[in-house]
Order: sequence, then C-alpha cells, then structure tokens
Amino acid sequence: MKGCLYVVATPIGNLGDLSARGRDILSSVSMIAAEDTRHSRKLLDHFGIGTGMISLHEHNEASRVPAIIEKLEEGASIALISDAGTPLLSDPGSRLVAAAAAAGIPVSPIPGPAAAIAALSVAALPGEQFWFEGFLPARAGARSARLETLSDLQATMIFYVAPHRLLDDLQAMCDVFGSLRNAALARELTKIHEQVYRGSLETLLERAKGESTMTRGELVLLVAGVEAARPEERELEDTARILLEHLSPRDAARVLSRLTGAGRNEAYAITQRICGSSNSEA
Ligand code: SAM
Repeated sequence: MKGCLYVVATPIGNLGDLSARGRDILSSVSMIAAEDTRHSRKLLDHFGIGTGMISLHEHNEASRVPAIIEKLEEGASIALISDAGTPLLSDPGSRLVAAAAAAGIPVSPIPGPAAAIAALSVAALPGEQFWFEGFLPARAGARSARLETLSDLQATMIFYVAPHRLLDDLQAMCDVFGSLRNAALARELTKIHEQVYRGSLETLLERAKGESTMTRGELVLLVAGVEAARPEERELEDTARILLEHLSPRDAARVLSRLTGAGRNEAYAITQRICGSSNSEA
C-alpha cells in the first residue's frame, strides 16, 4: 500500500498554534521534508518529536522529488512542512504535491496557521472575496506593472512584504491604486509585538515613514478591492473624468487638487490612471 503525503501547517510565531493532529502526524510519519531542517529542528525539539528530516527547498525540490515519491510508493508516509505556516503558500512544496497526486499517492492536508488568512481575519476589510498575491516583484517597473493588473480587482488583495520593501511597496500602491484605498498592515501576528494598522494607503505610508518599528518583523499588507474602495476615491475619480474632458491630464490634476484638497501626487495619479485606462481601451 502506498504511504500518504501529509501537508502540515506549522506555527507562524506562537508555538501553541501547532494543532494536536499536526503534532501526532509529525511524530508518526517515517520522515519530514522540511524547508530548513535546522529551523524546524527547534519546533520538533520543543514538542519532543524525534522524526528524521530531509531538506526540501526551492533550490533542491526538483532533484529531491523522485526519491521522496519512491519512498511514498514503497508505503512510507511523509510530512511536508515549511519554515512557518502552510506549505505552498509562498513556500516550497508544489512540485512534490503535484508529483504525488500524479502518482496516485494520497495527499492529505493538516490545516493550521497561514499568515495571509490570519491577517485577513483581523484586517476589518471585506473577506467574502480575496486575492492572495504573495510577494510583489522587487524591481520597480515589474512591481508597478503587476499592480496595474490588479487595480480593477474587486476582491481584497493580500500581499506578503519584506520589511525593507514596505515603503516602496506602499508608495507604488498609492500611485497605482490611489492613496485613499482602504488598507491594513498586520505585523508579527501571533507574536509578542503583534500589531494591526488600519487606514488608507496614504495614512499607512505616512505612519510607516515616521514609525521605524512598523517596518520591522514579518508583515502582511491587505488592500481593499476597487468596489470596496472609500467613497471619496470614487468621487475624486468622477470629478477627474469631467475635468479631463476639458483639460490636459496635468491641468486636470492641478484643478482636481485645488477643488477637492486631494494631494497633488494623488490627483496626478488619478488623472494618469484614467488616461492610461482610456488609452488602453481605445
Ligand atoms: N507559508 C507561510 C504562510 O502560511 O503564511 C508564509 C511563508 S512566506 C515565505 C513568509 C511571509 O509570510 C513573511 O515575509 C510575511 O510576509 C508573512 N508572515 C509569516 N509569518 C508572519 C507573521 N507572524 N506575521 C505577519 N506576517 C507573517
């Protein structure tokens, strides 16, 4: 009989979040495939779990999969874990899971923590529909291009953010989505310094510029979809559209800013966005 590949969620900070079933499975499988064996050893030691591990990370996954599949075919059950949270969510494991499924090996989830879902549950943004984006590209051009493709999305968007990129990511989102879009930043979830900031993208950006702790630790950034955007943003866009019928984008932005009190950059971003979208429709 074939073994089972268990995909086990592990804590994202608080060790108390490892489920009882997760603990049982990690203790009883023949082997654990872990993103970083030294990192996961601390978790296993904490729970007195002595199961052997092999490493499975983005650089060796392709070469490791055949040997793991062979063991599963022989009847050994194996658990897959990542450094934190749910494997495959911006973490390795997709090749292994696909190969196991293709080989007719049972693949079973042991659900638990995931930073994206934990953040969504406290963001105070609509949760009926959401889009998990993960990390944005590091290069400015690629990041803006990616944000452009998301700018009409109606679902709440969830981004993972490296601390040193927070200010740049927020600025790029202000430029593309408009600075009034509702957002939330969840920091160090389940840890001692857990914090959740809520407000417009502009508010979060200004606060992050002045508060250095906000740009430290592990971060999830959530942005409301376009339908859930603040009503003021819609009004600004409607006014901008009327102004653009008579004025150049630059003049329309200047008048929009004077008329409504919106920031110059934001007014400019709105007129640019409208011109961009009408150009691409033409
Ligand atoms: N697989 C993990 C999951 O289920 O959430 C995510 C792995 S991804 C490589 C790591 C990113 O997740 C971090 O850079 C951060 O954006 C987010 N993250 C992980 N733990 C977090 C925490 N305790 N609080 C906030 N964000 C966290």
